[in-house]
Amino acid sequence: KETALQSGTKEIEKRVSATPASVKMLQAEGFRVVVQAGAGVNAEFSDDDFREAGAEVLPDAKAVMHQATIIFKVRPPSEKEVGAMRKDTILFSMVYPAQNEKLVEKLKEKNITCFAMDQMPRTLSRAQAYDVLSSMANIAGYRAVVEASHHFGRFCAGQFTAAGKVDPAKVLVIGAGVAGLAAIQQAKNMGCVVRAFDVRPTTREQVVAAGGEFLEVNINEDGSGTGGYAKEMSKEFIDAEMELFRQQCAECDIVITTALIPGKPAPKLLKKEHIDGMKAGSVVVDLAAETGGNVETTRPGEIYEYNKVTHVGLSLYEHMPSRMPAQASFLFANNMAKFLCSMGPKNFFFIDYDDVPTRGSLICRQGTVTWPWTPPAPA
Ligand code: NAD
Repeated sequence: KETALQSGTKEIEKRVSATPASVKMLQAEGFRVVVQAGAGVNAEFSDDDFREAGAEVLPDAKAVMHQATIIFKVRPPSEKEVGAMRKDTILFSMVYPAQNEKLVEKLKEKNITCFAMDQMPRTLSRAQAYDVLSSMANIAGYRAVVEASHHFGRFCAGQFTAAGKVDPAKVLVIGAGVAGLAAIQQAKNMGCVVRAFDVRPTTREQVVAAGGEFLEVNINEDGSGTGGYAKEMSKEFIDAEMELFRQQCAECDIVITTALIPGKPAPKLLKKEHIDGMKAGSVVVDLAAETGGNVETTRPGEIYEYNKVTHVGLSLYEHMPSRMPAQASFLFANNMAKFLCSMGPKNFFFIDYDDVPTRGSLICRQGTVTWPWTPPAPA
């Protein structure tokens, strides 16, 4: 019943936290930029591209850590990497502090001032330009549909041909946040019939605007939590959802799941029975794979076939953006550079710790852990 299509796909990180465009942006604000040799090679940026943009290319990470007072990184640093940083380094990186307590402790010990880009307060409109999570989720939603159509051996759009009528593919998107909405839009653009479900009723309008049909369950429970995110739902609600998905899975050709709850494992929404009820040749893309997956049969980091249904276990923030490394790096690097450039006027770097994006993403400051942070109540 199982066939490995890409087994053990622990994909390497292909993104880079600076691009020639972001180097120019930083230099225009008065920063001197050094780049590790080969850092951009997997994202189609050569060392010469960085040199032409005005950066100095240093031979290895050690040399960069030694020279730089401010460090940009994509993935959370390893404890060893923190050990190699200069005391008092200012670090901008993904950190996921809730999942990486030991790392936060190490940053504190080393007196690092650390801005976790994943902790950026996202609902503040000024912070949208620094919102790495949205940039990556947008890519992941688009890419989920591209990956699904690649593994789905049929047309996406319907066709009338002389030989007969071909129905459009039916796509179900579970979770209509940034990634889900991007997936709905892309599937619609490719001619699919799209349905979507979310526990936050406010997503209904966005789903319809993106071209999807909003599905409902017959239980009155609002899943809106704090900061625009979802809260954990009652067992009764999840059961009703799963019943809805049982019917939908039997009809749909492609299912894309994106349901996440901050700081918690992803809710399990599709059981083995749901997958057993799907048509042969269907595809399930589980973007929640990183935090346990929404689908019981997902194998994180792997693409494989179970019971004639292809499972794509490539995650939202980890794998999908690395499948479009040049553009993912472009957006990631722009978010980072814009955030740094927001700190102080030209030629004068100054951290205003009362500024909301700055304070919200600051998790460690010179020997003190400053996370988690609760934003002040509106006056
Ligand atoms: P996310 O990745 O945390 O979750 C994805 C989606 O899964 C969410 O829409 C959530 O409601 C949904 N979900 C959770 N449990 C579910 C379940 N059991 N069944 C079905 N769906 C479930 O979310 P995100 O994409 O990071 O976005 C979260 C929020 O942040 C959204 O409200 C988004 O609009 C908001 N946001 C706002 C801004 C801004 O205002 N500038 C920027 C970015 C994001």
